[in-house]
Amino acid sequence: MNARRPSLDIAVAGGGMIGAAGALSLAKRGFRVALLEARVPAAWNAGDPEDLRVIALAPSSARLLDELGVWRSIEAARVSPYRRMYVWDAASGAELDFAATREGRAQLGWIVENKLVAWMLWNALDAAGVRRVCPAEVRGFEARAGRVVLDLAEAEPLSASLLVIADGGGSRLREQAGIAVRGRDYHQRAVVAHVATERPHEGTAWQRFTGEGPMALLPLADGRSSIVWSLPDERARAVLALDDAAFCEAVGFASDFRLGRIAATTPRASFPLRLQVAERFADERCVLLGDAAHTVHPLAGQGANLGLRDVAELASVLGTARDAGGDIAAPHALARYARRRRSAGAIDAHAFDAVERVFAWQAEPLLALRGLGLRAVDALSPLKRVLGAHAAG
Ligand SMILES: Cc1cc2nc3c(=O)[nH]c(=O)nc-3n(C[C@H](O)[C@H](O)[C@H](O)COP(=O)(O)OP(=O)(O)OC[C@H]3O[C@@H](n4cnc5c(N)ncnc54)[C@H](O)[C@@H]3O)c2cc1C
Repeated sequence: MNARRPSLDIAVAGGGMIGAAGALSLAKRGFRVALLEARVPAAWNAGDPEDLRVIALAPSSARLLDELGVWRSIEAARVSPYRRMYVWDAASGAELDFAATREGRAQLGWIVENKLVAWMLWNALDAAGVRRVCPAEVRGFEARAGRVVLDLAEAEPLSASLLVIADGGGSRLREQAGIAVRGRDYHQRAVVAHVATERPHEGTAWQRFTGEGPMALLPLADGRSSIVWSLPDERARAVLALDDAAFCEAVGFASDFRLGRIAATTPRASFPLRLQVAERFADERCVLLGDAAHTVHPLAGQGANLGLRDVAELASVLGTARDAGGDIAAPHALARYARRRRSAGAIDAHAFDAVERVFAWQAEPLLALRGLGLRAVDALSPLKRVLGAHAAG
């Protein structure tokens, strides 16, 4: 530890979108924060092709990013507002249609590149007084004498009052804290690519549920759509191996040619899908944040939105603990964050999981039931409004 530096309140391990937002938010509350990131983040440049990983950001997340001072630069750089969300079931033909105008809003959310959000947050850290340590892999940690001491690869150990673990879904630090996860492997991969379509996307997020998994077409600012196509592992591998013409044809069929023929595609990438919720979100002098705490199926587009809600809750709970004059990592303070965010995160994760299970039904009577349920939700405006408000955060 460097004796000349004032002692740290909080060390955040992992500078992805959620860790960086967490560090920024805590620094803006007046905490002395260090952010430790193993890899130098990829720079975002306006001239670069759009990042294949995009997220649907809810209004509550945009508000938080605005409070952190980065939303305006993100919006000015490249975002695509979506004003409508149209979901339909391949088997029953039933549909759910959410329109921003019906909710009295200009948009339901924004499609944004992951890399852009992470980059803007990363670049705002210095001005907020966050000590960025990168590359710095946190190899381990130990709670000792009222502090947590971090063991860093190729750097001196560092100590803080609290460690925020934000090292992603495969979190090694969560494992080291002895925190188990509950969930299941979907044995699915999300295939992603940007495609040009025959018809305009109309600022709409389209999602078709097929027996194999959901296919989403998300509107991009340049008129193309970003696909997120969840498929069983084997099928995903086969689709990834298709040549471009065959891939475009397959995407067209999977989306029922809703936007006409698929005219062109970028190279593709894929991500394994797991439902995972940590059994505890806090332990001695550490808390979990973002994907380290929960990973959810992308069908509802809520993973990062959940992580940003963790950020807001953590900053609020720690701010209250500090203002009360106590130890910010006192068990009761950490328990308050853990209780609130674990119950909200688990409810959402299992709700998305239930949707995934319901749409996997293929038996005839169950299909009819699913169609009936969807039509009922679509017809019941108050229930639809509740669902829409929840998705908006
Ligand atoms: C196909 C797909 C579509 C999605 N769509 C949406 C969507 O529409 N809306 C939405 O809200 N969410 C969506 N998500 C989820 C969203 O992408 C994630 O929830 C979010 O990116 C998680 O961010 P994170 O910072 O928690 O984790 P990560 O992005 O995984 O960041 C973890 C960071 O920790 C660093 N790290 C790891 N180990 C260490 C260590 N020991 N020491 C230091 N640093 C370390 C890593 O280098 C990395 O930078 C989607 C996910 C997928 C796969």
